[in-house]
Amino acid sequence: MTNDLVHVACPACGATNRLPAQRIDEEPSCGRCGQALLQGQPLELTDDSFDAVVAATRLPVLVDFWAPWCGPCRMMAPAFEQASRQLLGRALLVKVNSDDSPGLSRRYGIRSIPTLMRLDGGRESQRQSGAVPAAAIIAMAGG
Ligand SMILES: [Zn+2]
Repeated sequence: MTNDLVHVACPACGATNRLPAQRIDEEPSCGRCGQALLQGQPLELTDDSFDAVVAATRLPVLVDFWAPWCGPCRMMAPAFEQASRQLLGRALLVKVNSDDSPGLSRRYGIRSIPTLMRLDGGRESQRQSGAVPAAAIIAMAGG
């Protein structure tokens, strides 16, 4: 049974919102404070929420496979966040913790992290392994 709720921390008040994946492109607002929920921060997706979000968005999706113990992943995190803000409305940037979501790592054959993957219409179109700067992430998302 798949759960299509995405947990999103509100950038304004910090409240965790459970957002139906289908509403990802509808500029959802925070249930507590009413501020826009998606202000360009990467979404944290899991084995359970990933497919529903990818199916719901009309934007290209850029996935960062990472894990908390991975030094290069942590080094790249600020670049990924910066790219996500700059790409707001043009691409959806998501993070997948490969420890917590082994199903996705298996499906896409992720052998090393960080690995960046671009999906268009749910299909993989690009992949790059290793930490890269924000400019390279933005270029991969199509500028
Ligand atoms: Zn809020």
